[in-house]
Amino acid sequence: MQNDIKEEVYKCSKCGLCQSVCPVFLAEKNEMYLPRGRFIVLNNYFNGNNKLSNNFIHDLDICLNCNACKRFCPSNLDSYKIFTIIKSGNKIGTFFYYYKFLLHIYSIFKPFKIQTVKRNKTINKSSEKVVFFEGCYNKYINSSDRNASLNLIEQNGGNTAKIISNCCGYPLLSDGNINKFKKNAEKIINSIPFDCKYIICSCDTCYDTLLKCFELADNTKKYLEKLITLDKYLELKNFDLPKTENILYHKPLLRAENTYLPDCIKIINKKGSATLMENFFMIKHRKEYNRILNKVFYKKEDIQNKTIVTTCNISKLGLYFSAKKLKINCRIFSYYEFLNNYFTK
Ligand code: SF4
Ligand code: SF4
Repeated sequence: MQNDIKEEVYKCSKCGLCQSVCPVFLAEKNEMYLPRGRFIVLNNYFNGNNKLSNNFIHDLDICLNCNACKRFCPSNLDSYKIFTIIKSGNKIGTFFYYYKFLLHIYSIFKPFKIQTVKRNKTINKSSEKVVFFEGCYNKYINSSDRNASLNLIEQNGGNTAKIISNCCGYPLLSDGNINKFKKNAEKIINSIPFDCKYIICSCDTCYDTLLKCFELADNTKKYLEKLITLDKYLELKNFDLPKTENILYHKPLLRAENTYLPDCIKIINKKGSATLMENFFMIKHRKEYNRILNKVFYKKEDIQNKTIVTTCNISKLGLYFSAKKLKINCRIFSYYEFLNNYFTK
């Protein structure tokens, strides 16, 4: 499989444009955390000039999968994908199993009181059958976002024919475990009812990973046409957005498209990753997390006592812990919890 990406690696022109957007490089100023520096090492490796050290493979994981470099790269290189394939051919991580273990522990002891939204009793039985992809995080930890999302879907014409609670496979990609990722993707694809109109997702990380899952399907186009983020679904339905709230929106870096937001919400996160939960960085790389948090997180004066909403569940968790660590007081909700609460208060 590594041969498949050899050509890709050769495409890097060493222009260095990724320097200006990679949040890890901007914080650490270490070329080994930058696509360019890594592609130089990989070039030499493919030319038979060096071996890949364990340290190098480990450092490939010091990447947030934020897609910032991908969107900026003139050679159109998908760095995170290349790093994942290299990891898969060298040392497969075991974070996926640790993550599953953590989810089970959290679901038993419920250490965070983040459940706020209740499920509406009336359920829509319209002919517009939709699938809601809640993912494992919502299933075990964040039923509030799940309830809010289902309420919004059903109030806006969707008949939730199925809720999929499988893991999207993101922790498997983070481990470089491509074989297991493919099997997991197959399970997800096989569980989607043929006649559903939309596959709706309330988490940007799950959405981005489902795009990768559906690339493996026999009929990729059919699935990609149906996959939609919840805010875009609401936009299709001309959902009336709130007009009076003064809220901040943390836009996850891996989200390429605009979010359907009211004018009263101000977008933040223009320069860095901020949550450091992308690629589970905050959990997997504590040393680096502690070192760079101050440099990439929001300034206290910008978010103190404010309400922040986001469209990514793991970003929400990262915002929560990072603000707590820096002793910043702010309220953090998923965007859909906010919309649901706004219209039911
Ligand atoms: S922007 Fe792309 S082509 Fe330029 S150095 Fe970075 S990875 Fe290479
Ligand atoms: S995906 Fe993000 S963190 Fe990773 S190399 Fe690219 S810009 Fe840097």
